[in-house]
Amino acid sequence: MAKKKVATAKEKNHLDKVASLGCLICGSPAICHHIRNRGDGKGNLGFGNRATAYETIPLCPSHHVGSFSIHSCKQQFESMYGTEKELLYRTLKEIENMEQANDLFNFYNTNKGEI
Ligand SMILES: [Zn+2]
Ligand SMILES: [Zn+2]
Repeated sequence: MAKKKVATAKEKNHLDKVASLGCLICGSPAICHHIRNRGDGKGNLGFGNRATAYETIPLCPSHHVGSFSIHSCKQQFESMYGTEKELLYRTLKEIENMEQANDLFNFYNTNKGEI
């Protein structure tokens, strides 16, 4: 039996943030989809080159594995909503914005509103 790689606390934390963004397409509650665009660009990642927690995008079950989803018709999906790489960029950008907002909010709270 293959040993399953356990996500570190940091990776788990990132995955929680990705999922908390909601589906990139419709905003519904989402789960993390690991992108497949690494390696040679044809989906061949090569040994030991599996997508990490930082290469995931949030998609709801229907946009993830439904009848029109990134898994069932990737080409049409990407031509409609953008490539996995573009969606990943959006995901990371949104998390960055969220973290900046959190930082500012914490700063605001610790300084009792005096920014
Ligand atoms: Zn969706
Ligand atoms: Zn997936």
